[in-house]
Amino acid sequence: MKVLCPGCSNALSRIMVGDIVLDVCQGGCAGIWFDYKEINRIKDFQGETDILFHLKKNPDLKLNLNISRLCPYCNNVELERQTYNEIEIDVCPACNGIWLDAGEIREFIKDSGSFSRVNREQKESYDKLKQAFSSEKRHDDNKINDVINFLSSKLRVEKEV
Ligand SMILES: [Zn+2]
Ligand SMILES: [Zn+2]
Repeated sequence: MKVLCPGCSNALSRIMVGDIVLDVCQGGCAGIWFDYKEINRIKDFQGETDILFHLKKNPDLKLNLNISRLCPYCNNVELERQTYNEIEIDVCPACNGIWLDAGEIREFIKDSGSFSRVNREQKESYDKLKQAFSSEKRHDDNKINDVINFLSSKLRVEKEV
């Protein structure tokens, strides 16, 4: 059975990113379909998502954003337009699948952050340090305390190891 693009009715093709199989509108509107579990796992494959930024688009295609879009997998279910971090996405209310128009995937991956959990904590700590020691904030006692707390928590952890 052909799976049809919700945006332009082109037949979707399948590609792999990491171990995730995605439906993409190759040669049509270059949109991407995720099932609801895939969208969060895509961040695990940061190094392999480039293929999603370079899908072929039909230059003659004009997308009509006013017509309702149907879920490629559910029978006659209209996708709902939602805003996620200022990106407009189409979500299926039945299967929770998500349709991203061309270009939105780049925003999505960018916005969802390129830091793993550990790195995000490190980055936050680094940002705190930077803030605390920036010239205007040098005498901000609360910030300094944050740094001291951070450093002492680090020391504690290192002692435990
Ligand atoms: Zn399409
Ligand atoms: Zn659906």
